[in-house]
Amino acid sequence: MELSALFSMSYGLYVISSHEDGKDVGCVANTLTQVTASPEQISITLNKDNYTKQVIDKSGVFSASILSKEVSMDVISTFGFKSSKDNDKFAEIKHERDVLGNAYLSKNCVAVISCKVVKKLDIGTHVIFVGELVDAKNVCPEEVMTYAYYHQVKNGATPKNAPSFQSETKKSGFRCKVCGYIYEGDTLPADYICPVCKAPASAFEKL
Ligand code: FE
Repeated sequence: MELSALFSMSYGLYVISSHEDGKDVGCVANTLTQVTASPEQISITLNKDNYTKQVIDKSGVFSASILSKEVSMDVISTFGFKSSKDNDKFAEIKHERDVLGNAYLSKNCVAVISCKVVKKLDIGTHVIFVGELVDAKNVCPEEVMTYAYYHQVKNGATPKNAPSFQSETKKSGFRCKVCGYIYEGDTLPADYICPVCKAPASAFEKL
């Protein structure tokens, strides 16, 4: 089986947010899809260990900030490789609030869509939430980020709990054990800091 065929599938990149007891939570995901048009329903797949997933379970709402190509790796690092359990991820990120009270990015976000959960499907390691669209808004007129662009141009990484994570790679060099980022080269500088998750050189393993 050629698992690399799965890399040919196309995705976007999103910050999925929700809130509970006045606390904003959010994470990066590539698994957002519109599943029906009438009514407009959107699905999002999240890992069961993901704190944002646990908050959506309780709040019954989620919103998606559709990221643009201009989004900084700091935003990806904050929302993709830290847990909302111990971090207020929106504290230092410019944001506004949608009709559901969910925070969304007001910079480098092409549009925001706001959904109320109507169905939930347990698929083992992950859960699929299906939400009915309650609002949608264009935010910044920038080009939409694709998952391919994130990997190829931004040299972005895929965390282990993402559905599209693959442990095999053709790249050589060193892999960050925290976020999966690959440093291509024969020697890793001792003072190297992972550009995605900010882990030190000691967190890298030779491929
Ligand atoms: Fe990293």
